[in-house]
This record gives sequence, structure tokens and C-alpha cells, in this order.
Amino acid sequence: MSAELANWAGNLRFRARRVHRPTTLDEVRAVVAGADHIRALGTRHSFSDIADTAADLVSLEDMPPVTTVDARNATVTVAGGVRYAGLARELHAAGFALPNMASLPHISVAGSCATGTHGSGVRNTILAGSVRSLELVTAGGELVTVRRDDPDFAGVPVNLGALGVVTSLTLGVEPAYEVSTTVYLDLPVRAGLDHFRELMSDAHSVCLFTDWGAPVFNQVWVMARTDDPQPKSPGREWFSASPATRDLHPVSTQPAAACTGQRGVPGPWHTRLPHFRPEFTPSSGEELQSEYAVPAGHAVAALEALGEIAGVIHPVLQICEVRTVAADEFWLSPAYGTDVVTIHFTWIPDADPVRRTIRAVEASLEPFRARPHWAKLTEMPPERIRELFPRLADFRALARRYDPGGKFRNDFTDRYLGPATRRGGHGDGGSR
Ligand SMILES: Cc1cc2nc3c(=O)[nH]c(=O)nc-3n(C[C@H](O)[C@H](O)[C@H](O)COP(=O)(O)OP(=O)(O)OC[C@H]3O[C@@H](n4cnc5c(N)ncnc54)[C@H](O)[C@@H]3O)c2cc1C
Repeated sequence: MSAELANWAGNLRFRARRVHRPTTLDEVRAVVAGADHIRALGTRHSFSDIADTAADLVSLEDMPPVTTVDARNATVTVAGGVRYAGLARELHAAGFALPNMASLPHISVAGSCATGTHGSGVRNTILAGSVRSLELVTAGGELVTVRRDDPDFAGVPVNLGALGVVTSLTLGVEPAYEVSTTVYLDLPVRAGLDHFRELMSDAHSVCLFTDWGAPVFNQVWVMARTDDPQPKSPGREWFSASPATRDLHPVSTQPAAACTGQRGVPGPWHTRLPHFRPEFTPSSGEELQSEYAVPAGHAVAALEALGEIAGVIHPVLQICEVRTVAADEFWLSPAYGTDVVTIHFTWIPDADPVRRTIRAVEASLEPFRARPHWAKLTEMPPERIRELFPRLADFRALARRYDPGGKFRNDFTDRYLGPATRRGGHGDGGSR
């Protein structure tokens, strides 16, 4: 099968010699068992080369999109290829909800968990925080189940695709709820930073957007649950910012029709928590992205440091988004061991100036132990990244146990985990 395939943003052409599209679990097992080297491919929304390989890829998109709700145990089990959009539809119809979502529902559950994908909210963990158990096909084609009470569980949900092909995940769910989104305009950065903790904690999920063209957060998205004991009143001023009177897109040149409902009108959780609607192109569509998770205690200083280089950032930026994520125990999570504030950049699609600007951003964030997003672009040296994820050596040992021959390794994992013990030549010659 031809592998003429690029990632969603088009900044990376996959080098794979074959893309397998199994339709049954037995086929997945046979494909994995028969391959020398192989990587799972989700919906291709990563900007980094995390999914890339010169060997084989396996996509689960042609597998049945099974979504099974267990109301008694408040869980849902989804097949590895299912996207959040499909999961949310089924879950809501059964009267249940996820605690949070990323900015877009177009991405696969397995790929999102593998990369530590997150939304916002001081009490919300990364999306992988919902995982109760998962099933994966390991190097020999065996089907392995890993549950929360397994000793190594904390190493498994955020796995960079390095442990095997995840064929199903069981997630904890809660009763369905409604959310209302109010977008506030032009919050001065100083006012935002002076009240940072208070305003980021003011609703279920709060997101600040700035283009760094002026010292303002151009938009603040406040997503409040309607069952919150202190519900928001959308018509009012909020920390000196005024509510928008029309729907908006975070990137001001893009159409608001692509975005989820605003102006305080309540709606089902999955039609409000993501910024973008499943039937539209999310974000701007022509872009590069990078993102950093800064320990919450450093967030104000980190944002002030970025303010110092606003003139460097602004010319190549479409939008910057600031969110919060609650601490967890997952070894490769951006929020491992600490609450974090994530600072995201949607750049213009112009690789060289963007790369230079990423270096400037990373130099500014250096004192704050900012962890880069596994799925987005970074210029940080691998040694630095290894320091920032203190359980990375444990993950490397786990990966060697699951995959002693390095079947699931690629350039990306070699770069950050170190080469496999036994190099079988996965054909990933040079790195980026
Ligand atoms: C427009 C846009 C908006 C975004 N918004 C957010 C956001 O709000 N928050 C955030 O944190 N990130 C965000 N991201 C990043 C995105 O969440 C990640 O790229 C995520 O990995 C996407 O999942 P995917 O299915 O496309 O994964 P892919 O890019 O296809 O794969 C990523 C990794 O997951 C592995 N993988 C995929 N499927 C499996 C499987 N079945 N078994 C084992 N490993 C697997 C792959 O091997 C690879 O290593 C955004 C990206 C885009 C393009």
C-alpha cells in the first residue's frame, strides 16, 4: 500500500514504506507480529516527527468504531481508532460526559493520550487522566491489558507510541452536564497576571489568548458548567474585560462559524469544551505549533519573560493560548508531579523564522523548567528534555521490557529515550 501521506499540518511527509489498515483485532496482531519495525498512526495531528518512521505504519481508522458505555461502572470503552468527536456523540446520547476535551474533537483518543494532550481547567488533568485501563498489541502480537492497579500503570497512558498499538481504552465518565462559554475581550496582560490564579480558577475551563501585538489578552474564553454552585453571569464585566457581543474565532482572521457556541448560551459539554466544531477545519489550518508546560508557581514570571520578547514573537505568531492543567502521576505527562500552566503558540507556516522564534521562546522559558509538548515543535536539546521529565529513565526501562527488540522505536524515541539496546535498523537513518 502506498505511503504518500503527510501529517495534518503538512509540515511532515511520512517516510513509511507501508501503511497497514487492518479491519480486525486479529489483523492488527498479525501485522504487528509480522513487521520488523512499526509505529501506530492516529489522526496525524502531531507537528513533531513522533509518529514518523521509514518502516511500517499501522492505522486503526478502518477498525469498527466501537464505543461501549458501562453505566453501572461509569466507564466507556473505545476502540483505538476512535476520535473524540465520535466518542462524545455516543457518550452524550447515553447520558454521560468526559471531564474535559482538547481544543478540537478531530483527534484520536489513543493518539491524544499517547502525547499527553490536554484542555484547560485548574481541576482538570490531561485527557489521559480519564484512562482506567487499556489494551495494547505488543511486539510479538500479544494482546496485553494494563489496569490502574498494575504497578507500572503510570508509565502507560502517555506512551509516545513506544509500548505497542493501543487497540482499546476504558475511560472514566460522569453524568452529562451543560457548559456556557463567554468570551471576554481585551483583558490587559497586567490585570490578568495580577489576578492570575483567581481568574484561571473562576470556571471549569478558562483559556487566555494573546497575539502579543499589544499587552492584552485579546480574548478570554470562560467555560462554566451550569451546575457550578456559583454560576457565571455572562452579561457582566470580568476582571475589567467586557463580554463579546458576537461569536469569535481565537485567530481573528478566521471565521467564527468554525467555533463552538459562545455568548453564554448553555449547551451540552461536548459542544462547548472544544474551541472548534468537528465538521470544520480547526484552528487556522495553515500553521505550525509549539507548546510548553510551566509549573504553576512560575507561570506569571514565565509570561512576563515572554512579554519581554513580544516584538520577536508577534511577527510570526497567529495566536498564543494560555491554559491550566492539574498535576498527575503519569511519567511522561507535561503535568507530572505539578500543576502546570501551558503556553501554546500557533505560528505562521514558515519553518525557518518560526524555528528561530521557538529558540528565542525556549531561551526565555529556560529558567522555568518548561516541558515541551511531545506532539509539537521544539528546538530543545534532548539532554534538556530528559532532565525535565524525571521519570523518563523509568519509561525507557518500561519500553525495553514491553519491546526488547525496539520494534516500536523511531528517530523520535531514539532522540529522547536514547537508542534501543539492540538496534535492529528500523530504517530511521538520520533524524530531522
Ligand atoms: C489544530 C490542532 C489543535 C490541537 N489542539 C491541542 C490541544 O488543545 N491540546 C493539546 O494538548 N494538543 C493539541 N493538539 C496536538 C494533538 O492533540 C496531538 O497531536 C495528538 O497526538 C493528536 O492525536 P492523533 O491521533 O492525531 O495522533 P498522531 O499524530 O497520529 O500520533 C501521535 C502519537 O500517538 C501514537 N499513537 C496514535 N495512535 C496510537 C495507538 N492506537 N496506539 C499507540 N500509539 C498511538 C503515534 O504512534 C504517535 O507517536 C492539537 C493539534 C492540532 C493540529
